[in-house]
Amino acid sequence: MNLQYLKQIDPEIYEAVLKEIQREEEKIILIASENYASRAILEAQGSAFTNKYAEGYPERRYYGGCKYADEVETLAIERARKLFGADHVNVQPHSGTQANMAVFFSVLNPNDTILGMHLTHGGHLSHGSPVNFTGMLYKTFFYGVNKETGFIDMNEVREMAERCKPKIIVVGASAYSRIIDFEAFSKIAKENNALLLADIAHIAGLIAAGLHPSPIPHADFVTSTTHKTMRGPRGGMIMCKEKYAKIIDKMVFPGIQGGPLIHVIAAKAVAFKEAMTEEFKQYQQQVVRNAKRLAEKLKEFGFKIITNGTDNHLMLVDLRNMNITGKDAETALEIAGITVNKNAIPYDDKPASITSGLRLGTPSVTTRGMKEEEMDEIADMIYSAIKNFNKISVLKDISVKAKNLAKRFPVYSSL
Ligand SMILES: *Cc1c(COP(=O)(O)O)cnc(C)c1O
Repeated sequence: MNLQYLKQIDPEIYEAVLKEIQREEEKIILIASENYASRAILEAQGSAFTNKYAEGYPERRYYGGCKYADEVETLAIERARKLFGADHVNVQPHSGTQANMAVFFSVLNPNDTILGMHLTHGGHLSHGSPVNFTGMLYKTFFYGVNKETGFIDMNEVREMAERCKPKIIVVGASAYSRIIDFEAFSKIAKENNALLLADIAHIAGLIAAGLHPSPIPHADFVTSTTHKTMRGPRGGMIMCKEKYAKIIDKMVFPGIQGGPLIHVIAAKAVAFKEAMTEEFKQYQQQVVRNAKRLAEKLKEFGFKIITNGTDNHLMLVDLRNMNITGKDAETALEIAGITVNKNAIPYDDKPASITSGLRLGTPSVTTRGMKEEEMDEIADMIYSAIKNFNKISVLKDISVKAKNLAKRFPVYSSL
């Protein structure tokens, strides 16, 4: 990457960027919510559009000079509509949480009731957690997964909906490895006069590629990020039925945001274009195949996987039979050159800062070209690192292997 001006003007930031590039190049990254955006996306995001104010929407701006900003945002909207088959799309939310905020503020009043998936069962902070604005503003109720199977308990969803009569039901997760039955959620929402918000932040890329059923026909609102399996720039988006188009647009701007990040919207447009290709579909298929293979290999080593496997890009590893906490496993793996995050497992008795689990995902390693064979190598390294989590010399040896594997699949030189 050409960073000559940055190098001259600000050596400290330049050095940090170089070190980050090296980190992303040399580590095996299994963080399920991360990915490598393409060079084209990085170029769009680093473009002159970073300078442009464009409050409002295409053809209805509060600033002059928006001709090209309009072209960019219109392309982003049209491509997203086509890709997901949505009536209406808003591409301005700065993040997934902002997208959810816009939906909640559009249709809820303070103290209204929302029903979401519990954070420790795989839900997201913005689905009602007490430390999030949703938990502060609304009456929150939660459903979870079955203790034996790890699958979403649809009976519990129905019972909770009947009991708490929510104004909106939220479906979508950050750490759930199975197909989500959006149609069944929609039925329960209708039976209870509730709206349905499907948050596809994690699985948007799989849905775009047709590998996971789409919530578009079933949900009143669909929110997403654009940077997880979607492999675009960091950001959010909202899709909704035409009848909600006006209130959603008004709530995003001027309701909760000021000027849109047109440079990010340009990068979102590129991501949507990339997502329409055959290559993207094949990529998503490989993401799923890699996740299945990694889960199988880990099981052969004696690891327990929540739900006993995966249908998507991630899995939750239950470490309770391995005599190690999520926190210690994360630390050991980082030394061994493998970046993961600790994660609560359903019914975890440890606090969020410790946990009994790991969340592993394959989007990043698949983007750099790894396939099933490499998943076998990675499973092997994970097992050795966790078995030897307090032997620094063994962890260092594994990190050499991890680096060699990473070197065979370059990121930035190949983009
Ligand atoms: C990641 C995620 C979000 C939020 O994304 P941010 O861009 O980090 O705000 C929202 N919902 C779900 C289910 C997520 O996994």
